[in-house]
Amino acid sequence: MFFYTYHVLGKKFISLSIKADQIFWGMKKLHICPGERYSSVGQAVYPDPPAIPKVDDRIQGEDAESIEKLAVTLMKHLGGRALIWDEVLQWIYMKEKDESMTEEKVAMGLQWLYLTGRASIYPGVVAKGPAVRWKCYRCGSGVHSIITGSCARCEGECAWCDRCVILGKNRSCTPFFLIHPLPGKVLREDMKMNLPGMSVSQQEAATMCLKWLEGQEKRMLIHAVPGSGKTEIMFLVIRHVLNRGERVLWVFPYKEKAISVGERLSQAFPNVSVGTISGELGKGGTDANLITATIQQASRFYTCFHLVIIDEADLESVLENSVWRYGIRRAMHPQGKQIILTVTPSNAWKRNIQRNGEMIRIASRFHGYPLPVPKVYRVWALWRKVAKGRSIPYLESFIKRVKQKQGQALVFVPRTVDTESFLYWIQCRFPDLKEKCDAFIHQDETRDQKMERFLSGWTRLIVMTPHLAKGVTVPRCHVAVVGADHPVFSTGILVRMAGKVGRSASYQKGDVGFFSSVWTEAQKRAVKEIKQSNRIAKQRGTLIGG
Ligand SMILES: [Zn+2]
Ligand SMILES: [Zn+2]
Repeated sequence: MFFYTYHVLGKKFISLSIKADQIFWGMKKLHICPGERYSSVGQAVYPDPPAIPKVDDRIQGEDAESIEKLAVTLMKHLGGRALIWDEVLQWIYMKEKDESMTEEKVAMGLQWLYLTGRASIYPGVVAKGPAVRWKCYRCGSGVHSIITGSCARCEGECAWCDRCVILGKNRSCTPFFLIHPLPGKVLREDMKMNLPGMSVSQQEAATMCLKWLEGQEKRMLIHAVPGSGKTEIMFLVIRHVLNRGERVLWVFPYKEKAISVGERLSQAFPNVSVGTISGELGKGGTDANLITATIQQASRFYTCFHLVIIDEADLESVLENSVWRYGIRRAMHPQGKQIILTVTPSNAWKRNIQRNGEMIRIASRFHGYPLPVPKVYRVWALWRKVAKGRSIPYLESFIKRVKQKQGQALVFVPRTVDTESFLYWIQCRFPDLKEKCDAFIHQDETRDQKMERFLSGWTRLIVMTPHLAKGVTVPRCHVAVVGADHPVFSTGILVRMAGKVGRSASYQKGDVGFFSSVWTEAQKRAVKEIKQSNRIAKQRGTLIGG
């Protein structure tokens, strides 16, 4: 790919496709004075390409009309996106599946969008001039994140950003595009919504959210217990935003959740287009009114959304990572608002929200029963005993109770290797359970069958790491966290794991046990958090038997 400079109206401009510029300025009866050719956009412009002055908006002439047609096609797929050149190409090839859509053609279409004020072009990274001006256009990082070196792509001295490299290498030699969003699709007035009934605490929270939507504050933190029905509350909020003809983005740290909530949204809003963007570059329409996406994908949007919901915000340092924060801010419309959903907000966030934002605490579950409080068991040399199949009385009596209560147990272990040792321990201590035990491991082809067996109630005990727990819920659930002192079990994870118990109003006999050699701060805070929620729910009178 080459970049050209030229002069017109006394200014220097940049081009990805000089033909587009000749047609554009030709329409205005202006001649362009060619400059130089570069293999790096960062070398061609400094600091930014200038905005194109608005001379005349009319598209005249055959050449201009055909290039406009191309630009409209690109706009359909790229409107509202923030992408580097490689991502643009990948996305266009995936969407258009058209052999004739060559790299040159895409460059020409994008150049036309830039000339007509529908896109901005930046070097991926600016690494010229004084160090204070060095910048990554994708994640906003400064000089400390920018690495310089020779580059195979532009065959010269180049720079790239180390901070956002997880999204693919963003270099100084390749362009970064911000493409303006298309207007939101107008929805039919009789927009249907299929919603289950709501509890008192859900209704209260929904009312507060709707009030906040109309107010001045831009941010709202919802601190909700697992099983509070916050997803349904969000549905009401989303309907309100969609009714105004505005778009909504719902962001998740993991793709499984983005997919499952996307499916629920499609059912809840049968005549609204719902897009789910996850994985490498994602599938589905990026122009949908309602989009669920992973945090990585959320960073590839530009000023589209009037409401951004950040779900499970305490996981994977979604709010702590500046790349994601920057990406979410860019995805939001300038007048956009943000809802943060979490089971355990840190004190820093609470303080932050108190300064500028609102906070709601949903302390009771949708069915009104209290959260089961975890029991903490200290087991000396836990893993050595597990590995040797030795007796662990606390754990044995936990499993016996599960059997007595005709429940099913989810056993969480910190690492994949621990699943094997735990299954061995079960075989030694409970030979009768041997056939009724399973383990979920990463990239397991038989996972669906195992899941089916567990959901049908045949499997009595299933061992897994916490990352595989998404979507695993059964009514007669008990939870054991074995090795709960491992750092993978943060407060948020422990509260979520405990929250898998008692989801069904009809079975409230489930136990939660944390088994570990050391009693960690995370465990203490998780137990405290759960007790506190129950206490608040009781005070508010939203607890059954409270
Ligand atoms: Zn960056
Ligand atoms: Zn380069």
